[in-house]
Amino acid sequence: MVSQFYKLLGYSINEIPASLETFSNLVHPDDKEYTFKMVQRHFEKRVPFLVEYRLKHKSGKYKWFQGSGQATWDDDGKPMRMVGTIIDIDSRKLSEEAELKRAAELAEKNRELEEFTYVASHDLQEPVRTIASFADLFEQSYADKLDEEGRQYLQFIKGASMRSQQLIVDLLDYSRLGKSREMIQVNMNETIQDALVDLSVKIKEAKATIKVDDLPTIAGNATELRLLCQNLISNAIKFRKAEINPEIKISVHQNETGYQFSVSDNGIGIEEKYLDRIFVIFKRLHGKTEYEGTGIGLAHCKKIVELHHGRIWVESKVGVGSTFLFVIPSEIES
Ligand code: ADP
Repeated sequence: MVSQFYKLLGYSINEIPASLETFSNLVHPDDKEYTFKMVQRHFEKRVPFLVEYRLKHKSGKYKWFQGSGQATWDDDGKPMRMVGTIIDIDSRKLSEEAELKRAAELAEKNRELEEFTYVASHDLQEPVRTIASFADLFEQSYADKLDEEGRQYLQFIKGASMRSQQLIVDLLDYSRLGKSREMIQVNMNETIQDALVDLSVKIKEAKATIKVDDLPTIAGNATELRLLCQNLISNAIKFRKAEINPEIKISVHQNETGYQFSVSDNGIGIEEKYLDRIFVIFKRLHGKTEYEGTGIGLAHCKKIVELHHGRIWVESKVGVGSTFLFVIPSEIES
């Protein structure tokens, strides 16, 4: 151990004295208190000693090591000597530190991006609102002075400004998601019932039947979970086949990681090559005239599930139907 200790630190044997004092001088000041506390704990409570600390290499640079040790005690319980091992863990620690730094930088970039989305969409509201209201005024004052083609152009301007307004509202909602979050116990039966009440007109119009399993109570954010269910059920109704009434089934089963929920429909289905892409913001597979929408619903769903540390995906067959599945882990930190 002693010779290994010297070698790892770049010294030859006897170049520095083998003593507790030497060790104490070489330990990084930030690791000293903890390391010696752990030695003390080992002596007193006889719990295993295994600590990661930095030691000063002969080159002057600190390197990470993992030290473990075992003391022997005399009959009175006084520690006599300690033998141990030391392993160089510098490269593992450096890559762990780099990984943590990257994760922190990524979180910061995401925060900046969300802030930017919020500010940009917020500031875009005003000019778009101005275009919409002047298009209305223009129509009221001049529509009768325009020919057919002019009136059609005006309708295009009005339609486009209305869609821009809706996109901006969606974008603002998206960037607000997760901003203030209260995590509580959410009864998913009640969540689904609330979503169904909000969708009652659509359900009636489409003559949809919705079967719901008995659902659990889970830890989560009530508003976000309702929005998630509402988006998935609303899509299951919207992307129905023309010739049959929508049949939607909401199920759950528990596995070792958490609860896996599924929302299946007998709708138009999705081509395999699009199964991942539909969760991307503003990604739509159909024109605005075929099915209304802005393409943000599933991006909302993905963000909500990920805020709950879960995962969402879809299985589908064109012409048969789709099943959206999401897992919410049992243990969630807010
Ligand atoms: P939107 O509904 O506003 O178009 P979404 O983000 O909710 O936006 O959905 C993105 C796209 O995914 C939809 O335009 C549609 O093509 C497809 N999609 C979503 N849900 C279903 C479903 N249940 N069945 C078939 N296609 C679906």
